[in-house]
Amino acid sequence: PLAFRAIGLSKVYRTGETEVHALRGVDLEIAAGDVLVLLGPSGSGKSTLLNIMGGLDRPTGGQVFFEGEELTGLDDAGLTRFRRSHVGFIFQFYNLIPSLTAEENVRLVTDIAERPLDPLAALELVGLGDRRTHYPAQLSGGEQQRVAVARAIAKQPEVLLCDEPTGALDSATGVRVLEALVRVNHELGTTLVIITHNSGIAAIADKVLHFLDGRIARIETNDNPVDPA
Ligand code: ADP
Ligand code: ADP
Repeated sequence: PLAFRAIGLSKVYRTGETEVHALRGVDLEIAAGDVLVLLGPSGSGKSTLLNIMGGLDRPTGGQVFFEGEELTGLDDAGLTRFRRSHVGFIFQFYNLIPSLTAEENVRLVTDIAERPLDPLAALELVGLGDRRTHYPAQLSGGEQQRVAVARAIAKQPEVLLCDEPTGALDSATGVRVLEALVRVNHELGTTLVIITHNSGIAAIADKVLHFLDGRIARIETNDNPVDPA
């Protein structure tokens, strides 16, 4: 089954007199359970696409479907419901609540989720079961990001959208975060879409989409590069 399907997506940002064409006709299909990496220079449209898939923003043209439902047909309340039930987000900065322990940060989500994971199980999945009573300031950057991963998966979303998840980390620490993400994909079957500037991360992907100027310039499947259809 497909997690996402996009047809002819375009996005134009208008600021006063100027227009920025962030997406210029993007078609894509993401199979449920896949790990997808979006690579490409700054400004090539990766975050714009991720925000549209996550229901944080709307395209100017084209259609997006999640599990067959057209997101572009939903009103704001519908998009909010979609986001709350189906999508987890990871950003470059972790945004943990400093006055709460790791486990309490995760509990903020599990207390209100429809089908929550056990908070400790979520922390154990990212290798932080023994850090559950630590506060963010007592954790390294990579550990804080793994708490953010535990928090994002705690409501068991079908999809995890990650915008530069290792962007603020050194490479050794970043690898631990990636290992946690791969483990989430294997154990929970969560579909992962990961934006990165680090081509090393592409090694973990089922597919790599290379962005250039608002378009998908090339798709690699495993290690067999193919032209987009
Ligand atoms: P990156 O390319 O690593 O995503 P950027 O510095 O290009 O980082 O952009 C960071 C964010 O700032 C973008 O995702 C977007 O939301 C916002 N942004 C970028 N350009 C503009 C702009 N011209 N006007 C308003 N917001 C912008
Ligand atoms: P990437 O994630 O590949 O760095 P983005 O999707 O952030 O690319 O940005 C694509 C283009 O859209 C860039 O030229 C950026 O400056 C512009 N942009 C992004 N967000 C905004 C915004 N909120 N307002 C105006 N321009 C934006």
